[in-house]
Amino acid sequence: MEPIVGIDLGTTNSEVAFIIDGSSEVLKLKDDGILPSCVGIGNDGKIIVGEEARNQAAVAPDRTVVSVKRLMGTDQKLSMGDSAYLPQEISAFILKALKERAEKVLEKRISKAVITVPAYFTDAQRHATREAGEIAGLEVVRIINEPTAAALAYESTRSETQRILIYDLGGGTFDVSIVKIEDGVVEVLSSTGDNHLGGDDFDQDVVELLTDYIENELKVSVKDRPVIMARLKRAAEDAKVNLSAEPYVKIEEDHIGKKGFKDVHLSYEFSRTDFEEIIEDDLERTMESVNKALKDASMLPSAIDKIILVGGSTRIPRISKMLEEKFGSLPHSEIDPDLCVALGAAIQGGREMGLDSSSVLLDITPYTFGTSAIGELDGAPCMTRFVSLIRRNTKLPAAKSEAFYTVYDGQEMVEIKVYQGEEPDALDNIQIGKYKFKLTPNSPEGSVIVLHFDLDLNGILKIEAVEKATGRKINAVIENAFATFTEQEKEDSRKRIEEMWGGQDKDETDDTEPKAEEGEIPPDLAEAIRKAEAQLDSASGEDRDDMVNLIEDIRDAVKAGNLDEARELMKELEDILFYLG
Ligand code: AMP
Repeated sequence: MEPIVGIDLGTTNSEVAFIIDGSSEVLKLKDDGILPSCVGIGNDGKIIVGEEARNQAAVAPDRTVVSVKRLMGTDQKLSMGDSAYLPQEISAFILKALKERAEKVLEKRISKAVITVPAYFTDAQRHATREAGEIAGLEVVRIINEPTAAALAYESTRSETQRILIYDLGGGTFDVSIVKIEDGVVEVLSSTGDNHLGGDDFDQDVVELLTDYIENELKVSVKDRPVIMARLKRAAEDAKVNLSAEPYVKIEEDHIGKKGFKDVHLSYEFSRTDFEEIIEDDLERTMESVNKALKDASMLPSAIDKIILVGGSTRIPRISKMLEEKFGSLPHSEIDPDLCVALGAAIQGGREMGLDSSSVLLDITPYTFGTSAIGELDGAPCMTRFVSLIRRNTKLPAAKSEAFYTVYDGQEMVEIKVYQGEEPDALDNIQIGKYKFKLTPNSPEGSVIVLHFDLDLNGILKIEAVEKATGRKINAVIENAFATFTEQEKEDSRKRIEEMWGGQDKDETDDTEPKAEEGEIPPDLAEAIRKAEAQLDSASGEDRDDMVNLIEDIRDAVKAGNLDEARELMKELEDILFYLG
């Protein structure tokens, strides 16, 4: 049977996907799944498409076309070298390159495709897209909406009605759509967005930050040097991408200029927090569009069953957080956000071929993994706030790092506890590992510890903690992080962890401490009391009274055999200690 491929013809990148081995699996192109939507004329006068064209865009703009999708449906001619081309002709080069790649992998001739377009595309724009396909030698069997394709990638095999919000933030555009899917049929209820907002703007923000730093601090002028600016743009994008997984990156570019006879090099540390701050206004704007999409569809956030993330820029962690805050549930990104639309188009292609039940095969983590830290819970301080690093449904393998901070000057040690679960209080989750990390003596309060989790397909979770200032680290491996617990085991674990809380561990991984005898103060409570007593003298009158009363109450509760109450009181005591620092 002649394959019908699915093509996402994007503003920044384009992708092709197809159904393989009958009806069950949709594959992206194995290597090079993503093709930058750039076309140019190379040094030798030949047409180049993709990465090569993208690389020359900054230095040879007269021979390169980018973001042609924005002009589809217009008759504006684009000059490239000595000739001028219509937008559908430029798009045809991209389609041809995708077609050739797919033919190489499938080892078959391809002449049919389903191509996706934004939901807001007019008839003229859809028509131009169809023409681009035809010029490239492809019969366009269907043009479908991008949000429709994304919904199909996730939901094609489910029959119940779902209302899905699709948040699509790519390189140059932002679209948000609400669709209804019922028996595999998708209806777009609303669609809005911003045609000029995306990852390229974020790159530009970072470039501006870097050029300001270079010009003001390093005293070298770079703005009028296109090759250096192109290098900075590439470095800015790399940094942005890495910050989706790491809390800090170092941007290093050698030989960016000369001061006298001396070469000047750039070495700039950039944090995720700083990055998220500079793009905050843009992200706020996307949320305004989300509100508009809901209003246009006459829906409240609670009516949305699922949120799907599409587009490479949705890997920025702040985006998931913002959506989770608004909708109360975690958005889905388990299908590669770059390929989701192409995969949905391939499913539609499969349907056109008479194959019905295609679905996207996924390797995802069934559990969330994280650690505990001092934080807030329901507005109150919490010593065991759960902080997730790798969230449920993340595609595997997955790696993620987060920064944590020491809480007082001279802190000698941090205890890293690894949990499986989703509850906001880590004590309600399952502890699967515990490690002590001795810190460099006399470290100031706020010293950074970067915790790194690396989870593979087999459930092997590698953990690394690094003291940022010195680079000292510890490593650990949890061999079977996916091990499932029975309810009873969970309950036992919960109790054990609860009793253990308080840092009385003898050994780095030893979780099996003896329990306290009846009437005797358990080690965690004794430790809290000891700490409180040590601080009594420095506490102010009211705090001091509260602490004395709480210590007495804890002792009484233990004597009466009421450990649960004692631990509740201990939390109050710890809150006071936390505030006193
Ligand atoms: P798309 O148009 O969907 O292919 O998305 C391309 C945009 O996603 C570009 O601006 C990329 O820099 C951006 N992008 C890709 N991966 C990441 C990542 N891990 N974190 C942040 N942005 C990313």
